[in-house]
Amino acid sequence: MTDHPNPAANAELVKKAARDAGFDLVGIAPATTPLTLGYFQDWLAADYHAGMAYLERREEAYTHPQHVLEGAHSVVMLAINYKQTPPGSSGKQPSTLPTAVPESATPAPPHNPARIASYALPPHDYHFTLKAKLQQVAEAIRTTWPACRTRTVVDTAPLLERDMARLAGLGWFGKNTLLINKRLGSFTFLGAVLTTAELSPDSPHETSHCGTCTRCLEACPTNAFPEPYVLDANRCISYWTIEHRGPIPPEMAAGIGNWLFGCDICQEVCPWNRKAPAALDHTMQGAFPAEGLDPLAMLTQTSEQFTQHFSSTALSRTGWNGLRRNAAVVLGNNRDERARHPLTELLTDADAGVRAAAAYALEQLDTQTT
Ligand code: SF4
Ligand code: SF4
Repeated sequence: MTDHPNPAANAELVKKAARDAGFDLVGIAPATTPLTLGYFQDWLAADYHAGMAYLERREEAYTHPQHVLEGAHSVVMLAINYKQTPPGSSGKQPSTLPTAVPESATPAPPHNPARIASYALPPHDYHFTLKAKLQQVAEAIRTTWPACRTRTVVDTAPLLERDMARLAGLGWFGKNTLLINKRLGSFTFLGAVLTTAELSPDSPHETSHCGTCTRCLEACPTNAFPEPYVLDANRCISYWTIEHRGPIPPEMAAGIGNWLFGCDICQEVCPWNRKAPAALDHTMQGAFPAEGLDPLAMLTQTSEQFTQHFSSTALSRTGWNGLRRNAAVVLGNNRDERARHPLTELLTDADAGVRAAAAYALEQLDTQTT
Protein backbone atom coordinates (compact mmCIF):
# COMPACT_ATOMS: atom_id res chain seq x y z
CA MET A 1 0.00 0.00 0.00
CA THR A 2 1.09 3.57 -0.52
CA ASP A 3 0.10 6.82 1.10
CA HIS A 4 -0.29 8.30 -2.34
CA PRO A 5 -3.99 8.51 -3.13
CA ASN A 6 -3.67 8.28 -6.90
CA PRO A 7 -2.68 4.88 -8.38
CA ALA A 8 -2.62 6.36 -11.90
CA ALA A 9 -0.10 9.02 -10.85
CA ASN A 10 1.87 6.34 -9.01
CA ALA A 11 2.01 4.30 -12.21
CA GLU A 12 3.31 7.27 -14.20
CA LEU A 13 6.08 7.88 -11.67
CA VAL A 14 7.20 4.27 -11.92
CA LYS A 15 7.12 4.34 -15.72
CA LYS A 16 9.31 7.40 -15.75
CA ALA A 17 11.77 5.63 -13.46
CA ALA A 18 11.75 2.68 -15.87
CA ARG A 19 12.52 4.87 -18.87
CA ASP A 20 15.28 6.61 -16.88
CA ALA A 21 16.79 3.21 -16.12
CA GLY A 22 16.97 2.50 -19.86
CA PHE A 23 14.07 0.12 -20.41
CA ASP A 24 12.45 0.17 -23.83
CA LEU A 25 9.06 -1.07 -22.66
CA VAL A 26 7.20 -0.81 -19.39
CA GLY A 27 3.71 -1.84 -18.39
CA ILE A 28 1.91 -2.68 -15.19
CA ALA A 29 -0.04 -5.84 -14.44
CA PRO A 30 -2.11 -6.54 -11.37
CA ALA A 31 -0.62 -9.21 -9.10
CA THR A 32 -3.12 -11.94 -9.96
CA THR A 33 -3.12 -15.61 -10.85
CA PRO A 34 -1.55 -15.83 -14.32
CA LEU A 35 -4.16 -16.33 -17.03
CA THR A 36 -2.07 -19.00 -18.73
CA LEU A 37 -1.46 -20.98 -15.56
CA GLY A 38 -3.56 -23.88 -16.94
CA TYR A 39 -1.41 -24.06 -20.10
CA PHE A 40 1.73 -24.05 -17.99
CA GLN A 41 0.42 -26.87 -15.83
CA ASP A 42 -0.60 -28.90 -18.91
CA TRP A 43 2.85 -28.26 -20.39
CA LEU A 44 4.51 -29.60 -17.25
CA ALA A 45 2.16 -32.58 -17.16
CA ALA A 46 3.12 -33.41 -20.75
CA ASP A 47 6.81 -33.43 -19.73
CA TYR A 48 7.60 -30.75 -22.26
CA HIS A 49 9.94 -29.16 -19.72
CA ALA A 50 12.45 -32.01 -20.30
CA GLY A 51 15.10 -32.12 -17.56
CA MET A 52 14.18 -28.74 -16.03
CA ALA A 53 12.87 -30.35 -12.87
CA TYR A 54 13.05 -27.07 -10.94
CA LEU A 55 9.99 -25.89 -12.87
CA GLU A 56 8.00 -28.84 -11.60
CA ARG A 57 9.29 -28.46 -8.05
CA ARG A 58 8.11 -24.87 -7.97
CA GLU A 59 4.79 -25.49 -9.73
CA GLU A 60 2.73 -24.33 -6.76
CA ALA A 61 4.73 -21.12 -6.42
CA TYR A 62 3.91 -20.14 -10.02
CA THR A 63 0.21 -19.97 -9.20
CA HIS A 64 0.35 -16.43 -7.80
CA PRO A 65 2.86 -13.56 -7.55
CA GLN A 66 2.15 -13.51 -3.80
CA HIS A 67 4.55 -16.46 -3.61
CA VAL A 68 7.29 -14.22 -4.93
CA LEU A 69 6.45 -11.14 -2.84
CA GLU A 70 3.93 -11.41 -0.06
CA GLY A 71 1.40 -8.61 -0.26
CA ALA A 72 2.28 -7.84 -3.89
CA HIS A 73 -0.24 -5.53 -5.45
CA SER A 74 1.38 -4.74 -8.78
CA VAL A 75 3.85 -6.32 -11.16
CA VAL A 76 5.84 -3.79 -13.16
CA MET A 77 6.91 -5.57 -16.35
CA LEU A 78 9.92 -4.24 -18.19
CA ALA A 79 11.64 -5.12 -21.42
CA ILE A 80 14.85 -4.14 -23.10
CA ASN A 81 15.75 -4.66 -26.73
CA TYR A 82 18.78 -6.82 -27.48
CA LYS A 83 18.41 -7.18 -31.22
CA GLN A 84 21.88 -7.23 -32.71
CA THR A 85 23.07 -4.77 -35.30
CA PRO A 86 23.33 -6.68 -38.58
CA PRO A 87 26.94 -7.51 -39.52
CA GLY A 88 28.39 -4.86 -41.76
CA SER A 89 26.29 -1.98 -40.44
CA SER A 90 28.11 0.85 -38.84
CA GLY A 91 27.52 3.03 -35.86
CA LYS A 92 25.79 0.59 -33.55
CA GLN A 93 28.71 -1.50 -32.39
CA PRO A 94 29.79 -1.42 -28.73
CA SER A 95 31.75 1.73 -28.03
CA THR A 96 34.57 -0.39 -26.65
CA LEU A 97 35.04 -4.03 -27.22
CA PRO A 98 35.06 -5.74 -23.85
CA THR A 99 38.22 -7.21 -22.49
CA ALA A 100 36.29 -10.47 -22.30
CA VAL A 101 36.66 -11.01 -26.04
CA PRO A 102 38.79 -14.13 -26.14
CA GLU A 103 41.73 -14.55 -28.44
CA SER A 104 39.93 -17.64 -29.59
CA ALA A 105 36.85 -15.57 -30.45
CA THR A 106 38.10 -14.91 -33.91
CA PRO A 107 35.65 -15.24 -36.74
CA ALA A 108 35.35 -18.81 -37.82
CA PRO A 109 36.43 -19.93 -41.25
CA PRO A 110 33.43 -19.32 -43.49
CA HIS A 111 32.63 -23.00 -43.94
CA ASN A 112 32.17 -23.87 -40.30
CA PRO A 113 31.11 -21.11 -37.94
CA ALA A 114 29.70 -22.03 -34.56
CA ARG A 115 26.72 -19.83 -33.79
CA ILE A 116 25.67 -18.31 -30.50
CA ALA A 117 22.11 -17.19 -29.74
CA SER A 118 21.86 -13.39 -29.83
CA TYR A 119 20.91 -13.11 -26.20
CA ALA A 120 24.28 -14.56 -25.17
CA LEU A 121 26.38 -12.26 -27.36
CA PRO A 122 26.61 -9.21 -25.06
CA PRO A 123 29.79 -9.01 -22.97
CA HIS A 124 27.88 -9.30 -19.72
CA ASP A 125 25.26 -11.87 -18.81
CA TYR A 126 21.88 -10.14 -19.13
CA HIS A 127 20.86 -11.37 -15.70
CA PHE A 128 23.34 -8.91 -14.20
CA THR A 129 22.75 -5.98 -16.52
CA LEU A 130 18.98 -6.28 -16.20
CA LYS A 131 19.09 -6.79 -12.46
CA ALA A 132 20.97 -3.52 -12.00
CA LYS A 133 18.38 -1.64 -14.05
CA LEU A 134 15.50 -3.32 -12.20
CA GLN A 135 17.02 -2.31 -8.91
CA GLN A 136 17.09 1.27 -10.09
CA VAL A 137 13.31 1.09 -10.66
CA ALA A 138 12.73 -0.67 -7.33
CA GLU A 139 14.76 1.97 -5.55
CA ALA A 140 12.71 4.74 -7.15
CA ILE A 141 9.55 3.05 -5.84
CA ARG A 142 10.91 2.68 -2.33
CA THR A 143 12.25 6.21 -2.26
CA THR A 144 8.88 7.60 -3.30
CA TRP A 145 6.89 5.38 -0.94
CA PRO A 146 9.18 4.25 1.89
CA ALA A 147 6.53 1.94 3.32
CA CYS A 148 6.46 -0.16 0.14
CA ARG A 149 8.25 -3.39 -0.42
CA THR A 150 9.68 -4.52 -3.76
CA ARG A 151 11.30 -7.58 -5.31
CA THR A 152 13.13 -7.70 -8.62
CA VAL A 153 12.96 -10.77 -10.85
CA VAL A 154 14.94 -11.88 -13.92
CA ASP A 155 14.28 -15.59 -14.45
CA THR A 156 15.18 -16.02 -10.83
CA ALA A 157 11.83 -16.51 -9.17
CA PRO A 158 8.71 -18.53 -9.95
CA LEU A 159 6.92 -15.88 -12.00
CA LEU A 160 5.32 -16.50 -15.40
CA GLU A 161 6.99 -13.43 -16.84
CA ARG A 162 5.58 -13.71 -20.35
CA ASP A 163 2.06 -14.04 -18.97
CA MET A 164 2.57 -10.97 -16.80
CA ALA A 165 4.08 -9.07 -19.73
CA ARG A 166 1.04 -9.77 -21.91
CA LEU A 167 -1.20 -8.74 -19.04
CA ALA A 168 0.80 -5.52 -18.74
CA GLY A 169 0.18 -4.80 -22.44
CA LEU A 170 3.73 -5.43 -23.67
CA GLY A 171 2.83 -7.88 -26.44
CA TRP A 172 1.24 -11.17 -27.45
CA PHE A 173 2.37 -14.79 -27.44
CA GLY A 174 3.71 -15.79 -30.83
CA LYS A 175 3.24 -19.29 -32.18
CA ASN A 176 6.92 -19.75 -31.25
CA THR A 177 5.77 -19.20 -27.61
CA LEU A 178 7.76 -15.97 -27.24
CA LEU A 179 6.37 -12.60 -26.32
CA ILE A 180 6.21 -10.38 -29.39
CA ASN A 181 5.93 -6.63 -29.30
CA LYS A 182 4.70 -4.85 -32.43
CA ARG A 183 7.58 -2.38 -32.42
CA LEU A 184 10.44 -4.43 -30.97
CA GLY A 185 9.62 -7.99 -32.00
CA SER A 186 10.79 -10.73 -29.67
CA PHE A 187 14.51 -10.06 -29.18
CA THR A 188 13.78 -8.52 -25.78
CA PHE A 189 14.84 -9.38 -22.25
CA LEU A 190 12.00 -9.39 -19.74
CA GLY A 191 12.27 -8.43 -16.11
CA ALA A 192 9.82 -7.60 -13.35
CA VAL A 193 9.57 -5.48 -10.23
CA LEU A 194 6.91 -6.73 -7.87
CA THR A 195 5.69 -4.21 -5.38
CA THR A 196 3.16 -3.69 -2.65
CA ALA A 197 2.52 -0.23 -4.13
CA GLU A 198 -0.89 0.39 -5.70
CA LEU A 199 -0.29 1.20 -9.34
CA SER A 200 -2.97 1.47 -12.00
CA PRO A 201 -2.65 -1.54 -14.30
CA ASP A 202 -2.38 -1.23 -18.07
CA SER A 203 -4.76 -2.96 -20.46
CA PRO A 204 -3.70 -6.47 -21.44
CA HIS A 205 -2.59 -7.12 -25.02
CA GLU A 206 -5.65 -9.11 -26.12
CA THR A 207 -4.99 -9.52 -29.84
CA SER A 208 -2.59 -11.84 -31.64
CA HIS A 209 -0.76 -10.73 -34.76
CA CYS A 210 0.59 -14.00 -36.08
CA GLY A 211 -2.34 -14.42 -38.43
CA THR A 212 -1.87 -17.34 -40.80
CA CYS A 213 1.93 -17.20 -40.55
CA THR A 214 3.63 -20.47 -39.55
CA ARG A 215 7.24 -19.63 -40.42
CA CYS A 216 8.65 -20.35 -36.99
CA LEU A 217 6.92 -23.72 -36.78
CA GLU A 218 8.24 -24.77 -40.17
CA ALA A 219 11.76 -23.41 -39.69
CA CYS A 220 12.55 -25.25 -36.45
CA PRO A 221 15.19 -27.79 -37.48
CA THR A 222 14.30 -30.23 -34.72
CA ASN A 223 10.49 -30.04 -34.87
CA ALA A 224 10.23 -28.71 -31.33
CA PHE A 225 6.68 -27.39 -31.78
CA PRO A 226 4.14 -30.21 -31.43
CA GLU A 227 1.52 -27.55 -32.16
CA PRO A 228 1.40 -23.75 -32.40
CA TYR A 229 2.09 -22.03 -29.07
CA VAL A 230 3.56 -25.21 -27.53
CA LEU A 231 7.32 -25.83 -27.24
CA ASP A 232 8.65 -29.27 -26.41
CA ALA A 233 12.00 -28.60 -24.73
CA ASN A 234 12.95 -32.24 -25.31
CA ARG A 235 13.40 -31.30 -28.95
CA CYS A 236 14.78 -27.78 -28.65
CA ILE A 237 18.41 -26.93 -29.44
CA SER A 238 18.42 -24.22 -26.78
CA TYR A 239 17.52 -26.75 -24.13
CA TRP A 240 20.17 -29.28 -25.15
CA THR A 241 22.99 -26.80 -25.62
CA ILE A 242 22.31 -24.63 -22.56
CA GLU A 243 20.16 -26.29 -19.92
CA HIS A 244 21.09 -29.92 -20.30
CA ARG A 245 24.08 -31.36 -18.45
CA GLY A 246 25.84 -34.50 -19.63
CA PRO A 247 25.75 -36.35 -22.95
CA ILE A 248 23.56 -35.13 -25.79
CA PRO A 249 21.70 -38.00 -27.45
CA PRO A 250 23.00 -38.56 -31.02
CA GLU A 251 19.50 -38.17 -32.48
CA MET A 252 19.41 -34.61 -31.09
CA ALA A 253 23.06 -33.83 -31.83
CA ALA A 254 22.51 -34.02 -35.58
CA GLY A 255 19.76 -31.40 -35.43
CA ILE A 256 21.98 -28.99 -33.49
CA GLY A 257 23.82 -28.14 -36.70
CA ASN A 258 26.18 -25.23 -36.05
CA TRP A 259 24.64 -23.96 -32.83
CA LEU A 260 27.25 -23.78 -30.10
CA PHE A 261 24.98 -22.13 -27.56
CA GLY A 262 21.23 -21.70 -27.94
CA CYS A 263 19.36 -21.19 -31.20
CA ASP A 264 17.67 -18.16 -32.78
CA ILE A 265 16.00 -19.75 -35.79
CA CYS A 266 12.37 -19.43 -34.68
CA GLN A 267 13.03 -15.75 -33.96
CA GLU A 268 15.14 -15.00 -37.03
CA VAL A 269 12.36 -16.09 -39.38
CA CYS A 270 9.67 -14.09 -37.63
CA PRO A 271 8.52 -11.13 -39.74
CA TRP A 272 8.06 -9.05 -36.61
CA ASN A 273 11.77 -9.28 -35.91
CA ARG A 274 12.81 -8.30 -39.42
CA LYS A 275 11.32 -4.86 -39.04
CA ALA A 276 12.36 -4.38 -35.40
CA PRO A 277 15.13 -1.85 -34.69
CA ALA A 278 18.51 -2.93 -33.33
CA ALA A 279 19.23 -2.31 -29.65
CA LEU A 280 20.21 1.26 -28.91
CA ASP A 281 21.81 0.37 -25.58
CA HIS A 282 25.39 -0.48 -26.54
CA THR A 283 25.74 -2.88 -23.61
CA MET A 284 23.22 -5.10 -25.39
CA GLN A 285 25.36 -5.38 -28.52
CA GLY A 286 27.50 -8.45 -29.00
CA ALA A 287 31.06 -8.95 -27.88
CA PHE A 288 31.59 -11.83 -30.25
CA PRO A 289 31.53 -11.86 -34.04
CA ALA A 290 27.90 -12.32 -35.09
CA GLU A 291 28.98 -14.53 -37.98
CA GLY A 292 30.17 -17.12 -35.49
CA LEU A 293 33.22 -18.43 -33.70
CA ASP A 294 35.69 -21.10 -34.64
CA PRO A 295 34.36 -24.24 -32.95
CA LEU A 296 37.85 -25.78 -32.92
CA ALA A 297 39.09 -22.98 -30.66
CA MET A 298 36.07 -23.55 -28.42
CA LEU A 299 36.88 -27.26 -28.23
CA THR A 300 40.54 -26.91 -27.35
CA GLN A 301 40.37 -24.02 -24.88
CA THR A 302 41.57 -24.73 -21.34
CA SER A 303 39.30 -24.25 -18.34
CA GLU A 304 41.41 -21.23 -17.35
CA GLN A 305 40.85 -19.67 -20.77
CA PHE A 306 37.14 -20.41 -20.49
CA THR A 307 36.96 -18.67 -17.11
CA GLN A 308 39.02 -15.74 -18.31
CA HIS A 309 37.05 -15.17 -21.49
CA PHE A 310 33.51 -16.23 -20.73
CA SER A 311 32.85 -16.00 -16.99
CA SER A 312 31.10 -12.63 -17.27
CA THR A 313 29.00 -13.70 -20.25
CA ALA A 314 25.84 -15.76 -20.55
CA LEU A 315 27.96 -18.53 -22.06
CA SER A 316 29.24 -19.31 -18.58
CA ARG A 317 25.97 -21.10 -17.92
CA THR A 318 27.06 -24.26 -19.70
CA GLY A 319 30.41 -24.31 -17.95
CA TRP A 320 33.66 -25.27 -19.64
CA ASN A 321 32.59 -28.85 -20.19
CA GLY A 322 29.26 -27.86 -21.68
CA LEU A 323 30.86 -25.52 -24.19
CA ARG A 324 33.48 -28.10 -25.21
CA ARG A 325 30.73 -30.70 -25.54
CA ASN A 326 28.72 -28.40 -27.81
CA ALA A 327 31.81 -27.49 -29.85
CA ALA A 328 32.49 -31.19 -30.45
CA VAL A 329 28.94 -31.67 -31.71
CA VAL A 330 29.26 -28.70 -34.08
CA LEU A 331 32.61 -29.93 -35.41
CA GLY A 332 31.11 -33.37 -35.99
CA ASN A 333 28.10 -31.92 -37.78
CA ASN A 334 30.49 -29.86 -39.94
CA ARG A 335 32.63 -32.94 -40.68
CA ASP A 336 35.56 -30.70 -39.75
CA GLU A 337 38.71 -32.76 -40.29
CA ARG A 338 40.83 -30.22 -38.39
CA ALA A 339 39.25 -31.58 -35.21
CA ARG A 340 40.07 -35.26 -35.66
CA HIS A 341 43.12 -35.30 -33.40
CA PRO A 342 41.71 -33.21 -30.50
CA LEU A 343 38.45 -35.15 -30.67
CA THR A 344 40.35 -38.43 -30.40
CA GLU A 345 42.12 -37.16 -27.30
CA LEU A 346 38.78 -36.18 -25.76
CA LEU A 347 37.50 -39.75 -25.96
CA THR A 348 39.13 -40.23 -22.55
CA ASP A 349 38.11 -36.83 -21.10
CA ALA A 350 36.95 -36.75 -17.49
CA ASP A 351 33.55 -35.37 -18.51
CA ALA A 352 30.97 -37.85 -19.80
CA GLY A 353 29.24 -35.24 -21.96
CA VAL A 354 32.50 -34.29 -23.68
CA ARG A 355 33.44 -37.95 -24.20
CA ALA A 356 30.08 -38.77 -25.77
CA ALA A 357 30.17 -35.69 -28.00
CA ALA A 358 33.71 -36.52 -29.15
CA ALA A 359 32.61 -40.06 -30.03
CA TYR A 360 29.59 -38.69 -31.90
CA ALA A 361 31.74 -36.19 -33.79
CA LEU A 362 34.34 -38.77 -34.80
CA GLU A 363 31.56 -40.99 -36.10
CA GLN A 364 30.41 -38.10 -38.29
CA LEU A 365 33.96 -37.64 -39.62
CA ASP A 366 34.19 -41.33 -40.41
CA THR A 367 30.85 -41.25 -42.14
CA GLN A 368 32.31 -38.68 -44.47
CA THR A 369 35.48 -40.53 -45.25
CA THR A 370 34.12 -44.03 -45.74
S1 SF4 B 1 15.09 -22.29 -30.43
FE1 SF4 B 1 15.61 -23.44 -32.31
S2 SF4 B 1 15.30 -25.58 -31.77
FE2 SF4 B 1 14.26 -24.36 -30.18
S3 SF4 B 1 12.17 -24.17 -30.92
FE3 SF4 B 1 13.26 -22.39 -31.73
S4 SF4 B 1 13.97 -23.03 -33.77
FE4 SF4 B 1 13.40 -24.87 -32.65
S1 SF4 C 1 7.04 -16.49 -37.29
FE1 SF4 C 1 4.91 -16.05 -37.74
S2 SF4 C 1 3.73 -17.51 -36.53
FE2 SF4 C 1 5.82 -17.46 -35.72
S3 SF4 C 1 5.75 -16.00 -34.05
FE3 SF4 C 1 6.38 -14.87 -35.87
S4 SF4 C 1 4.47 -14.07 -36.78
FE4 SF4 C 1 3.91 -15.65 -35.29
